[in-house]
Amino acid sequence: MYSVPKLKSFSEAALDKAVEKLRAALKQEAAAVKNGAEQKAFRDRWMARKDGVLTEINDLWLKAAPKDAKRTVGQRVNEIRAIVEGAVKKAEEIRLHPATGPSSRAPSDALDITLPGIRRPLGSEHPVIKTMHEIVSVFRNLGYSVQEGPVIETDYYNFEALNFPPNHPARDTQDTLFIANQESKPQRDRLLLRTHTSPVQIRTMERMKPPVRIVIPGKVHRNDPPDASHSPMFHQVEGLAVDTNITFCDLKGTLDHAMKALFGSSVKTSFRPSFFPFTEPSAEMMVSCFICGGSGKRGSEPCRPCKQTGWIEILGCGMVDPNVYGFVDYDPKKVSGFAFGMGADRIAILKYGVDDIQLFFNGDVRFLEQFG
Ligand SMILES: [Zn+2]
Repeated sequence: MYSVPKLKSFSEAALDKAVEKLRAALKQEAAAVKNGAEQKAFRDRWMARKDGVLTEINDLWLKAAPKDAKRTVGQRVNEIRAIVEGAVKKAEEIRLHPATGPSSRAPSDALDITLPGIRRPLGSEHPVIKTMHEIVSVFRNLGYSVQEGPVIETDYYNFEALNFPPNHPARDTQDTLFIANQESKPQRDRLLLRTHTSPVQIRTMERMKPPVRIVIPGKVHRNDPPDASHSPMFHQVEGLAVDTNITFCDLKGTLDHAMKALFGSSVKTSFRPSFFPFTEPSAEMMVSCFICGGSGKRGSEPCRPCKQTGWIEILGCGMVDPNVYGFVDYDPKKVSGFAFGMGADRIAILKYGVDDIQLFFNGDVRFLEQFG
């Protein structure tokens, strides 16, 4: 074991040699420290005020040095003190945190199974998407297949082929975002964000011969300033059935069944005339209010979702306008069919009692996690 020698010479060379020996001894003893008791002994041996190595060095080297060497020896002793303190501190760290110590045998990437894990919260289906899936599954059970199409559409598919001629006033109700710098293209090829999922009806009929039974979920856009019941982006689920001998009775029966599947077997449906360019005749369908049971009242309070009427307007529908068949090479004398479309966001609002459509799109987890 190292013991502090008396110095015969205080020359730089002699000091270098003495310091080198001390450092080697310090390193060796530090490496041998394996537990708390040894670490304490190591510390005391080198740093104890009364008889530690540092104290001895102070006595045997600094105090014994001749006057003209005191300054140099003093500097060396300070350096040694720093080195010893560093080594003692390191030995203590290694004892306390064995995995992080450089001389520890544990590899630095060792798995510590006692550490708490990283919590990854489970996501859940967005309430609007969930509602769309529910609507789609009702029609799938009736034998409808699911079709989708592009959100960026041409004027032709979004308007013209659906019997909205250029400059037709019905286009005003479906203003949307148009892609810029397309003035050089003919109007029918200009791109826009689709205002309804109906272009997918045209695209499907171009590819398929009747019978056609499709349900079309998707995102649509309109120039509607955002408020509690409007959003410039929303979701539709649309349906189309074309075959021989399809009548308005089939439309009514299908939709009545679908509403009972969605809102409960006690809901009633009611139709009133409406207008859409691509259906003739057209209708709006209402369901009896499934919140107040059609009474218009909730206890003594008025029922807000149905505006006290007992009825909720839920979708638009109608028999496919024969003009539309002209765009897809169907013979209107041989086939007939119906189409319907509903806002998935609006149905989600009614189903979950949400009072502001914006909540669906703000991305606030505190709101969304309620539907998990
Ligand atoms: Zn009501």
